[in-house]
Amino acid sequence: MEKLSLIVPCYNEEQSLPKFYEEVNRLSKEMDNIEFELLFINDGSKDGTLNILRDLSKQDKRVRYISFSRNFFKEAGIYAGLKNCTGDYAAVMDADLQDPPSLLPEMLGYIKNEGYDSVATRRVTRKGEGKLRSLGAKAFYRIINRISDTEIVTGARDYRLMTRQMVNAVLEVSEYNRFSKGIFGWVGFKTKWLDYKNVERVAGTSNIKFSKLIVYAIEGIVSFSTAPLIFSAILGMLFCLIAFIMIIVIVIKTVAFGDPTSGWPSLACIVFLVSGVQLFSIGIIGEYLAKTYLETKKRPIYIVKETEKDIK
Ligand code: UDP
Ligand code: MG
Repeated sequence: MEKLSLIVPCYNEEQSLPKFYEEVNRLSKEMDNIEFELLFINDGSKDGTLNILRDLSKQDKRVRYISFSRNFFKEAGIYAGLKNCTGDYAAVMDADLQDPPSLLPEMLGYIKNEGYDSVATRRVTRKGEGKLRSLGAKAFYRIINRISDTEIVTGARDYRLMTRQMVNAVLEVSEYNRFSKGIFGWVGFKTKWLDYKNVERVAGTSNIKFSKLIVYAIEGIVSFSTAPLIFSAILGMLFCLIAFIMIIVIVIKTVAFGDPTSGWPSLACIVFLVSGVQLFSIGIIGEYLAKTYLETKKRPIYIVKETEKDIK
């Protein structure tokens, strides 16, 4: 029998986990033509998540878990899950039931019967999400799709079912600064997109702060586009051109009308503007340099403290 691995990154999910398990357990009884593996990644939770995972894995041998030594963020969880899962198919999904497990039979059908390598999901509504979050997300997708060659589908979730072949391809992209939505697109393969309406969390609140999302968005842009570097170069050229025109104007003015020493306020403004642009450009370059620096250190993406094998 073929095996389906569900990869579930969890950070402080003690309230959602029992509901999630119940839902998946029910579904697995309906999908009796495939074996299930539930691989939970405990991303340094501060609540009782690990205890729940220990109990579940004792009760049900399909449940496995990997517990990190600290919080490494969701991307590290996804990577750890893909690396350690053993299924012929793997799906990444959230523990809060915002990624409905009930879509799995349909998703599997597309792969098995219609020759797709991957079935991905996107939200077509953002009902129940904060205004600022929605607005930020929209702006992010607009910017990144304009400047990156890799298509990053608007509203895409990390919820995705993949064949083993695609899992292996994603694992080969072993970079430290991970932006899965981009990596999934970058590796290629034939992907079917399913639309669904936003589902609210079953319990608890979102674990991802808005400030963290902004950092994540910048990470996505830096990982999948070098356009900001070109933008700063163009800005530099534009300013050179303006300066050149100004020099000509001033020279002509001085020769034709003499040189009345005036205009220091405008000069002060120009100095501020130009140094602002310079700092901005250095900031952009610095961001790329920082990412390169982190990449060259080759630090591990995550560190494991405990797995289900330790308690069996
Ligand atoms: N998550 C994680 N590590 C983190 C933050 C979140 O593994 O540092 C997990 C979380 O447990 C959930 C998923 O990532 O399963 C999505 O998180 P959340 O629901 O808080 O984000 P949202 O759905 O609001 O984007
Ligand atoms: Mg969620």
